[in-house]
Order: sequence, then structure tokens, then C-alpha cells
Amino acid sequence: MPLARNVVKDLAAEYGACLRPVQLRRTEIDTGYVEQVLIPCGHTLASVCPPCAERARILRATQCREGWHLDHEPIIDPDPATREQRALATDRAEVQADRDALANEGLDTAELDERIGELDQKINDPGMRGNVLPNRPRRHRSTRRRQDAAPLPRRPVSDRTVGKTYTAPDGKTFRPSLFVTLTCPSYGRASEDGAPAESDTYDYRRAARDALHFAALFDRFIQNLRRLVGYDLQYFAAVEPQRRLTPHVHIAIRGTISRAELREVIAATYHQVWWPSTETVGYDGGHLPVWDEHTGTYLDPDTGEILPTWDEALDAIGDQDEPLHVARFGQRFDAQGVLAGSKDASRCIGYLTKYLTKHVSDCHQVTSDAQAAHAGRLADTLRYEPCSPTCANWLRYGIQPKSARPGLRPGCCKGKAHRREYLGYAGRRVLVSRKWSGKTLADHRADRKAWLTGMLGLSATDPRRYTWEPVKPGDPDHMPNGQRLLHVVADRIQWQTALEQARRRAAEAGLPATGRAA
Ligand SMILES: [Zn+2]
Ligand SMILES: [Zn+2]
Repeated sequence: MPLARNVVKDLAAEYGACLRPVQLRRTEIDTGYVEQVLIPCGHTLASVCPPCAERARILRATQCREGWHLDHEPIIDPDPATREQRALATDRAEVQADRDALANEGLDTAELDERIGELDQKINDPGMRGNVLPNRPRRHRSTRRRQDAAPLPRRPVSDRTVGKTYTAPDGKTFRPSLFVTLTCPSYGRASEDGAPAESDTYDYRRAARDALHFAALFDRFIQNLRRLVGYDLQYFAAVEPQRRLTPHVHIAIRGTISRAELREVIAATYHQVWWPSTETVGYDGGHLPVWDEHTGTYLDPDTGEILPTWDEALDAIGDQDEPLHVARFGQRFDAQGVLAGSKDASRCIGYLTKYLTKHVSDCHQVTSDAQAAHAGRLADTLRYEPCSPTCANWLRYGIQPKSARPGLRPGCCKGKAHRREYLGYAGRRVLVSRKWSGKTLADHRADRKAWLTGMLGLSATDPRRYTWEPVKPGDPDHMPNGQRLLHVVADRIQWQTALEQARRRAAEAGLPATGRAA
């Protein structure tokens, strides 16, 4: 009955119910009472679940709005550490001591470094914020300044995160914030539809590399901006492609900065990629390095020679060498002042969240052959560009990728950046500074839930009273998706009615009746 199924799906979408609800079996610990609970899939892509994606987008908009014009310093108090987290931190301390002892003796620390990485990841997983130690010292080469970078004044960065208040002649005070859009430089003239005017001269390699390193460049920009303004400037940024398929970034910035200062920081900001050269293709087609089980390394297929490892290749980069790539933003940028609660603010938040429910490549529709060819050429270029130190493509240039393992094939790296739907940018789409709203996305979600339950006069359920398990397809109580959809639609109708009533009551009593937390 495909038709009936579609009708239910449409109905679910209409009511904003999840199209792929997940079934959980909830058992009350004291009584043993079992209930089936359907929870939304929570996907952020509209191509997978439009209602969940829309809810996620609205949550981001709320997060953006709450942080943009804060007039008080956000309080960030981390949750008290659990026993498991404390145990992990103790382990971490011990391994660090061992590692440092080895390093002092000049011995190999690789194994312990790896263990430290694992522990750091575990510590960060269950909701502990921040790394225990800053990243291990990196090669200092990467911070070497280029001659052609504009010098930038540096001010000590204070703890302040809120912008300045200004007083108008009539005594009214206001605290302006900023909406900025940064783009990549030009790679060749582009037509109205984004396709290059001359595809032969369009610099695809540069475009591909700028996309691959866009997130790092953005980090640099924020660092430089903070040094220039002298306070802990906060931002909410969204990365999306332009018509010409290069990333650009919309940034809501708390507080305000002059155009001249922005121009100065953009001109001075660059990100150098100190990776080995990819000028010479050493291995191609069927002629590829082979994996050697005994040594756990890749060998030249003809001579049997061990290829240089990632670290060896990095060490071989000399003082005379140029970085593989220097990423910069384009000279042109957009900046406008925005006041709290204004129409402009809402419009900008609209821009910031507009494309979050879509894959990078789905933000603009391909309608012409020229556009399709352009996307194809960019994807071809990205196929053989190394996306990271562990990228399989390094074998093409005669270098073993970092943490090499068997089965790597140049041109077939699994990294997201190579995939067509990412267009070279595999980073997070929303970049939010830590002290933006002082809340995590989960905190914002909890606010929304608390508001809802408060509005409906429900008492919050204590999660410790239940055990939860997923219901699998073979289980006797498993519901097929059609049945789940009917349940979620019924639930949705029920509580929408209840919410309507509650809203009416609130309006009559003169209470705020929106979903926004105060
Ligand atoms: Zn869903
Ligand atoms: Zn790769």
C-alpha cells in the first residue's frame, strides 16, 4: 500500500512530526511497567527528515538570537564531573607523566601519545568541555610569518565578551552588533550563474585548496580579530557555498568593529599549509605503492624501497621551501551594524540559518550545462588533492600518509571533503564561539522543553526512574514505520491542541506566549 503510506507521511510532515521516529522501550524501574516511546530521529538534513531538520534550524536560530546582543557576561559553569570522567582524568595524568619521562630520556613516545589522544577523546565525549592540555607542541614552522602579510597591531585580549554601549545625544543607550560576510578570493571571472567565464584559466586548484582549509583560515581570522579589538570577541557563523561553489561565511559578531579595522584584519589574515609538495606525481593508474605486512609500510612497487613517512616528509621541508598553500579571504566583504530586536536582526538570523538543512552542494540548484561542468571540474580537482595528513592521496606523491594502513588508494580517500556533496569543505556548518550564549545546543533544547512542559502544566519526568532500550525489527513489540507515523501524528495533534489552549490562557493572563526563553 505505497499510496496510503505516502498519505501518512504527508500528514506527519504537515503536523511537523518526525518522518522516521525511533522506537524505544521504556521500563519504569520501580514498577516494571513497560511503555513504547517514539522519539524524533533528530536529523539535520531536510532531504532525510524535513520536520526534524526544521526544528534543528529553529534551535540554531534561537541560539544565534540569544547570544548576539547579550548585555551581560554569560556564566559558564561546567557540570560536575562524573566518577567515570574523574577516573579518565586520573588516567590521563598518569599517562602524561609517563610520556614526559620517556621524552626526557629521548625515547619514543608515539605509543603513549596515541593513548593520550584516545583518552582526550573519551574525556571530551561524555560532555566534559575543553581539552585537558592544549594540543601537544606543533612544528613551529607553521607560525612563521610571510613577508607579504600586513602587520597587525596586537593588544592584550581581556576576558570581556560583550560589546560596548553607546549613548545617543538624547540619552538613549544602545549596543550595536555586527553582521559580516567573508568570501574567498577570485579564481577567474565567473558568470551570473556561477560558472567560470573561461574554464581553462579558472584556478580550480586554488579554489579546491581554499575550500579544504577554509575552517583553519576562519580560526586565524577570529584570532587576529580578537588581538586587534583586545577582548574575547564572540561569534555565531554559518558556512555555505556561493553560486561559484566556493565557501563563504556569514558571521554574527557580538559588539561592533569599524570597517577599516575589519579590512585591516582581512588583509593580514592568512593560513599557511606546511605540507609536503604535490608537484610531482610519482604513482598513478595501476602503478601504485604496495603495502608491506612485515614493516607495516608502503613500498615502491619496482624497487621495494620504503616511501618516506609523513613525519620524514614534514622534516624534509626546508627553510627555503614555500608552504604548499596559503589560504586567504577575498578583499571584498560585507559588514552591517545590527541592533538587538530589530527587523535587520531577524533578517540576518534568517540568512545565517537559511541553508543549514541542506548539504553544501544542494544549496544552489544546477540548472545549466555550464554549472554542471563547473561542479564536475571542481570535484575532479578535489579527488587528488590531499584533504588531511592521513589522506590516501599522499601515496600519489610518493609519501606515506600519517597513520598509514593497508588498503589505501589515491583518488579513493574516504575523507568527506572529496565527496561531491561537500565541495571540499568538510568542516562544521555552524561555528559558534564558546561564550556566545553561554549555553550548548542541548541547553537550548532543554530550555525549549522546559518552556513546553511549563506551558502545558506537565511535571518533568525524572529520567532516573526508567531504563531505556531500542526496539529492534525482530522484537515482538516492534512497530513498522507506518504504525509509528500514525502514533506520532496522533501525539502531535493532541499536544498542539493542548498548546493552543495553554497559549490562549497565557494571553488572557497577559503572560508571554512565545517559545523563546527570556
Ligand atoms: Zn526525524
Ligand atoms: Zn583525503
